[in-house]
Amino acid sequence: MLLIGRIAAFSSVAAVYLLLGWLNWSMGLKLELLGTTALLAVSAWTTRNGYESKAGKSLVLLTGACFFVALGFHAFLRDFFGLAPDDEYVATALFASDQSEATEFVQQHALQLAKHVLSVLLAFGAFGSVVWWKPAAAKQTGDSPRRRGAWIPAVFFSMVFLLLHLNPTLRKQNPVLYFPIRYSGWKNDVETTRRLQAVTAVANNDSGLVSLGCADDQPRTVVFVLGESITRLNLPLTGYPRNTTPELDSLGSELIWFPDVVSSDYSTTPSVQKMLTPATLEQPNLWRTKPDVLVMAKKAGYKTFWISNHSTDANGQVSIFASHADVLVLANKGASRGEGSYDEVVLPYLQTALGDPAPRKFIVLHLLNAHPAYYFRYPKSFARFNDADDAVTKGMKAAGRRFWAVRMRNYYDNAVLYTDHVLKRSLDLCRVSGQRLAWIYVPDHGQDAAHTSNFSGHNARSRSQFETLMIFWRSPSFPAPAVDAGALRTRPYQTDVFDHTLLGLLNISGDYYDPKRDIFSEQFEQVARTIRGTPYP
Ligand SMILES: [Zn+2]
Repeated sequence: MLLIGRIAAFSSVAAVYLLLGWLNWSMGLKLELLGTTALLAVSAWTTRNGYESKAGKSLVLLTGACFFVALGFHAFLRDFFGLAPDDEYVATALFASDQSEATEFVQQHALQLAKHVLSVLLAFGAFGSVVWWKPAAAKQTGDSPRRRGAWIPAVFFSMVFLLLHLNPTLRKQNPVLYFPIRYSGWKNDVETTRRLQAVTAVANNDSGLVSLGCADDQPRTVVFVLGESITRLNLPLTGYPRNTTPELDSLGSELIWFPDVVSSDYSTTPSVQKMLTPATLEQPNLWRTKPDVLVMAKKAGYKTFWISNHSTDANGQVSIFASHADVLVLANKGASRGEGSYDEVVLPYLQTALGDPAPRKFIVLHLLNAHPAYYFRYPKSFARFNDADDAVTKGMKAAGRRFWAVRMRNYYDNAVLYTDHVLKRSLDLCRVSGQRLAWIYVPDHGQDAAHTSNFSGHNARSRSQFETLMIFWRSPSFPAPAVDAGALRTRPYQTDVFDHTLLGLLNISGDYYDPKRDIFSEQFEQVARTIRGTPYP
């Protein structure tokens, strides 16, 4: 009876989570199976003498707690990010984040976190009271003479629990093993990439590299601004009612805006891996074995620069590419994505790089733009939309968005406004340098700033997370694209093949350049695009 109460309490919580859509069926049933057998095994041991001591009950509670934490963790990931706990991005985010990122994450998602923490506490409280109060009845039945064989169910359920671990997908759901298994997997990945880094750094003799060359005999500078978490939906370009790009718009037809661009992925690392290397959505692992554009540019006689405001470029996976630059500048002196490291910190280093006497220069600026937490991304003077009572806030309120969702949107738009300012300033530096120069801006992916619900942040399920753009500027001396700007603008593009566009701007031809994937090329071919395997648009 005692056991049935416990199992029922645990199972009904898991069932509620399943019904709320917080768990998927496969995961929910696996957790349910593991949790039930674990509770049966532990309870069979602790009650084998016919009663249960306080230590025994505590052991049952501890076992239950592990499974409730797992339920809550999985529910949070699924409810708010649309992610399964085995998604590779989860491990990267968990183990590669530094402390300040974790703090900002908690701040940005405080309400959502609180909801799941409270749910788990409530569920665990109910379960705990069942475990704690029921045994009084059990004690009275304790003097039955079956005591001798009482260890049999204990051994039986323990064996079943252990046998379940022979199945690797069940083993991975054991909450006690969850973090160690993922951590060792992640650490393995990092060590593999470190080894690969050494290999690619030494192996500049990749057979394809030999074929690469730049036929341009004049000086050439290419500035690639790698943006972060910018969706085109929040730009006047796509009809957004807020003027978030006043400074760039002042350049008029000097800029070419590409409004039909989608990212390959919804988070930084996998997206950047494909933008900078021959890896694509079809062949996502090529970044491990093929050279990146920094290595290629160096081979073609370019001096390469990587100037970053991302603290994770020091040790994260993107650092593999960054480390291939001749000059690496980690401009985020706060060692964090925190306050005080606004994107303008990269500008003095850009100016220095532009002043470098090398005739061929390839400069990458890696910015934070509108990465969560949004309100850390801009100085106070750009907090223009904080108390806005405009078409955007009215529209959001009409759509039933909560006040805090509207506030997040305002912060996000402030960050976009500041991004506009920093991009314009970087262009001003390029302009006064008087060089034969091309400048291109592409974010790694978009963002969901309360576009589809009250949620703000990285949302794999929202199209806005993928819907970005590109912006292009060239000095008058830089060769004009062979295709008319009006025709270029309407080209649909996905950024997993952006490496070909970069190579085109660098005028590098050879094995790794395919003009059909270069958005500026006459030979450009439109290909079918997909978002998480689904055709886009
Ligand atoms: Zn990103």
